[in-house]
Amino acid sequence: MNTFEDFKIKSQLQNAIADLGFDKPTPIQQESFSPILSGTDFVGIAQTGTGKTIAYLLPILQDLKYSDQINPRVLILAPTRELVIQIVEQIEKLTQYISIRVVGVFGGTNNINPQKVAVAQGADIIVGTPRRLYDIAISKVLSLKSIKKLVIDEVDIMLDFGYKTQLKNIFELMPIKRQNILFSATMTDYVDELTSDFLITPIRKTISISGTPLNNISQECFEAPNFYTKANLLNHLLEDKEEFSKVLIFVGTKVDADRLYETLNFEDESSVIHAGKEQNHRTKSIEKFESGKSRILIATDVVSRGIDIEKISTVISFDTPFYPENYIHRIGRTGRANQQGRAILLCSEKEIELREAIEGLMKYSIPVNEFPEEVEITSRLTPEEEYKPTNEPELSEKNTSIKVGASFHEKKAKNKKVNAERKSYNKILKEKFKKPLRRGDKIQNMKKKNKKR
Ligand code: AMP
Repeated sequence: MNTFEDFKIKSQLQNAIADLGFDKPTPIQQESFSPILSGTDFVGIAQTGTGKTIAYLLPILQDLKYSDQINPRVLILAPTRELVIQIVEQIEKLTQYISIRVVGVFGGTNNINPQKVAVAQGADIIVGTPRRLYDIAISKVLSLKSIKKLVIDEVDIMLDFGYKTQLKNIFELMPIKRQNILFSATMTDYVDELTSDFLITPIRKTISISGTPLNNISQECFEAPNFYTKANLLNHLLEDKEEFSKVLIFVGTKVDADRLYETLNFEDESSVIHAGKEQNHRTKSIEKFESGKSRILIATDVVSRGIDIEKISTVISFDTPFYPENYIHRIGRTGRANQQGRAILLCSEKEIELREAIEGLMKYSIPVNEFPEEVEITSRLTPEEEYKPTNEPELSEKNTSIKVGASFHEKKAKNKKVNAERKSYNKILKEKFKKPLRRGDKIQNMKKKNKKR
């Protein structure tokens, strides 16, 4: 099963694949084709970027005969609007030479009525987000009684979003006798539970185990103490428009995403998307980024799920994600379909433990870069960084844990634009802690010093 010819798919599909310019099937495509075509339940663990969408679409389309019946025979559920659109697009590309009707339904600001009209006209495949799909199904416009194959894409995210009840409600509207196909980037307890509750002796295929990033992505890290120093660093790095030709920057919160957009020097070349922005704005921003009109896209984790944009040169994690898997998802946006990708992590001292968790998951230490001399390290803090719970001890010479705002790695003196008090504090710290030989040593040093006291 090393070539698409080995799949023995119908010539119309073969031609569509050729039009897409795919030379050979990706590993997940090789592993999934026969089991899915055989009709058994199937669980695929594969990251975004591995070609998983085509992996389930090909055998499904191979098996789907022409029909003019109104009720759909295939249902594909996906967690986000963006992913629904992307799946519909992939189906349209693959079915250029066959007569297959596909309809996508999703919520948000989109009016339900046009979607109901489209569904009522009949479809072979329905792709939808669970809530909107369920709303349409209970309005009686859509009957799921003819569903023969159910695909749930990005199951882990789906369950993360709390869609479990919606999924169960949808299951009840479908015939029990059907093929279930699940795809997930990670295997979580929830996914396992769903699998054992609803699937019958499924075949499981794992392409890259949870936490294994694609090996065509180079990873690196810069240590920077706070938001504005990280922003200064980005302003410096992003000057190189050739190296950073298409950059996706992940930011943990909506507030920080907007703040970064305003702080960066590249307003004309960047756009920002997060759940607080209207759907229209999000779509336009993604289109601008996709077409190359904007070079930089700032996004939060949730909305970025399902974005499938080719040739992202660099993924920057502006913060270190709390869930290590999110880091893997983030960097999976670059280096797609065997292209070379670059992933840069910005990490403050507070985030070192999070980085270590990521490294533990990947079984890989992210190399730390020298902080560029010419970039200003500032002690300016965002309101969130300034906020200290009242029971947190004040920064003092007695308390050796360095708070946000202080540089935690050694810098050239000229880099430091800190006030006199902070400067002397840093000096004291430097005397106490030598430059760390390895990552984590500083923390160990601090722990030891604290113990001695
Ligand atoms: P996915 O993992 O489904 O999000 O797919 C990631 C990207 O890989 C999409 O842009 C696909 O068009 C592309 N792709 C899928 N299959 C292949 C293939 N066999 N060869 C090259 N690119 C592919």
